[in-house]
Amino acid sequence: MYYVGFCRICGTGPLGVRACGRCGDLSILCDECDALWTNLNTQSAPVSSREESLPCPSCGGSLLDPSSHWARRGEIAATGWLQQAITEGRVTLQHGAPLVGE
Ligand SMILES: [Zn+2]
Ligand SMILES: [Zn+2]
Repeated sequence: MYYVGFCRICGTGPLGVRACGRCGDLSILCDECDALWTNLNTQSAPVSSREESLPCPSCGGSLLDPSSHWARRGEIAATGWLQQAITEGRVTLQHGAPLVGE
């Protein structure tokens, strides 16, 4: 999985880039506590957390659905707000193993 830092809410979870299996939009999801953000402003309150189905902020599809997945590099590059932040050095994209298998 690609992640952009660590979660300030739980303190330990990597903030993974999650791709919605239904609409393809990317969001930022803590791999540990499931806090969810629609942008890189992860100092702000998450749009949701600890919801069982983790609805996609764009289409409402579940981010835990089997078709949803940790974003691939190409998907990140195709997502303007994320790639722009990486290019500008506002965020560092890191790669690592998820805490739990998919
Ligand atoms: Zn967390
Ligand atoms: Zn979606």
